Amino acid sequence: MKRIFFFGVTSSRRRDTCCPDMRLLLDESIKTTPESVGDWGIVCGGRAELAQNHAKASGNSDAGWGESDHNIMKGPQMYSPAADIAPYCPIKKDYIWNAPDRWAALHDHIRVTAERLGIKVKCGVALKSGKKDNPHMVINEKLQIFPLMSLSCIPT
Ligand SMILES: [Zn+2]
Repeated sequence: MKRIFFFGVTSSRRRDTCCPDMRLLLDESIKTTPESVGDWGIVCGGRAELAQNHAKASGNSDAGWGESDHNIMKGPQMYSPAADIAPYCPIKKDYIWNAPDRWAALHDHIRVTAERLGIKVKCGVALKSGKKDNPHMVINEKLQIFPLMSLSCIPT
């Protein structure tokens, strides 16, 4: 029997902080995840001020509050065109950070799904430090406002 993947409570809450196109991409991608890609979840959608500044301080983001695609708001609502995702191990109940094959398969699946939906997405950006930010993906809406990011995150 074909296994169907779905977002848990935490991933669903994070998904709700994204803009409509990103929500559509996330929903469609999780629903159609092949077993060869395996389970995955949403690590972050919209990111609040404290968390954004912490991400910058810890080297996990180049951007301070208000400078990241994760910080886009529409009125009082988070409206993020960016989401961070990661392969997930349901047995350990934890994300899998260090598995290049899992990341590659997940990125491929997201790109194929986005293309089918007519959504432009970039997955896995290089930070200024040179460290690859595998979890990060962002859709077309904001790319022109962050030329520095979009230059360094062309999918390979
Ligand atoms: Zn991100």
